[in-house]
Amino acid sequence: MAPRPEPDETAATEQSVSPESREWRGILVVVEQHDGEARPVSWQLLGQARRMAEKLGCEVMALVMGHGVEPVARLAIAYGADVVYLANHPALATYRTQPYSEAVLHVIRHFRPEIVLVGATYTGRDLAGAIATRIPTGLTADCTMLDVEPPPSRLLLASRPAFSEKLMATILCKRHRPQMATARPGVFEALEPDPGRTGRIQPVEVVLDESRIAARVVEIARSHDRVRLEEARVIVAGGRGLGGPQGFRLLRELADALGGEVGASRPAVEAGWIDHAHQVGQTGHTVRPRLYIACGISGAVQHLVGMSGAETVVAVNRDPDAPIMAAADVAIVGDLYEVVPALIEEARRRRGLPASALASRRSGDEHGR
Ligand SMILES: Cc1cc2nc3c(=O)[nH]c(=O)nc-3n(C[C@H](O)[C@H](O)[C@H](O)COP(=O)(O)OP(=O)(O)OC[C@H]3O[C@@H](n4cnc5c(N)ncnc54)[C@H](O)[C@@H]3O)c2cc1C
Repeated sequence: MAPRPEPDETAATEQSVSPESREWRGILVVVEQHDGEARPVSWQLLGQARRMAEKLGCEVMALVMGHGVEPVARLAIAYGADVVYLANHPALATYRTQPYSEAVLHVIRHFRPEIVLVGATYTGRDLAGAIATRIPTGLTADCTMLDVEPPPSRLLLASRPAFSEKLMATILCKRHRPQMATARPGVFEALEPDPGRTGRIQPVEVVLDESRIAARVVEIARSHDRVRLEEARVIVAGGRGLGGPQGFRLLRELADALGGEVGASRPAVEAGWIDHAHQVGQTGHTVRPRLYIACGISGAVQHLVGMSGAETVVAVNRDPDAPIMAAADVAIVGDLYEVVPALIEEARRRRGLPASALASRRSGDEHGR
């Protein structure tokens, strides 16, 4: 893609990204935080960066941007960073494309990482795209696999579904640096945080003039129904076997009793029973909860690929031969409209909650369908 640097920085930008001009070394993870709380994808990327850095024999760097976010920088070390660049500025208090891009570009130009990784969240997609239009390098978006070729090539192998998700494509950026990729939340495993890990926090001075930033933050409105499947520790997912949208009310009840989220297979989404934000799988979210309860889901490979990182899988299905049963740690053969109410009752009993009206009605009324 042709570079579109700002007029006053053309020379510096063109020169600094030439792979030949000076060594590009290390992997930089752009940490995403909101109100001082990092998104888990940042720690997952740091974990993968550590694994790749071992093959390359290089440092893992993290960039933390915000205002008053030193605790996040310390956490980045615990999660695997050797060096944390800390861009601390009032103009970075809330995410805006322009000042955040400036901060990332500043770090890329000064510290020359060979690889830059960003979480494929709403914010990360916006930021990575903005950066990629300012420096002459490529961006592989929405990766589901990342690896590196060992030296001397040191190439990032950035893989993602392509051609309507029918193929996996591995994309290389051979002639430009840094090699940039965004990766989906949930596909990599974070390292166990080690508070005793040592690393360096290096403040970076980014010149940001508020009067030259086009966007102003006037009001922050929080969305209450935001689905954060990638961060859920428990997911209760439903598929075509639910037979209709009403089944998701039952699954929501079980998810609430377990402190979890509701997931879905693609047919359930396509039937309009639940929003796409809940879809798990190849064309949905990749999740790695501690517990995944699949109800009325057969276990097609496109679904399994999205939830195979779950620690424990419980499958509820009428068909003992459904593929999900072989993939599950606990396979319950039965009608989900009998099994799920029993699970709700047990979960509520253990949490000291009163019995559920919905669940007891379901188990007694021809399964409510
Ligand atoms: C390019 C591509 C991308 C795709 N991406 C995705 C994706 O991201 N996510 C995804 O999920 N799929 C995806 N699919 C679709 C996938 O191939 C399967 O068609 C889909 O996962 C099947 O959904 P399901 O398990 O809900 O339905 P089915 O395969 O129809 O399974 C329903 C299951 O419910 C059981 N059942 C029925 N009634 C009950 C009951 N009362 N109690 C208990 N069990 C019951 C049945 O025994 C059966 O096993 C994709 C397909 C393609 C081609």
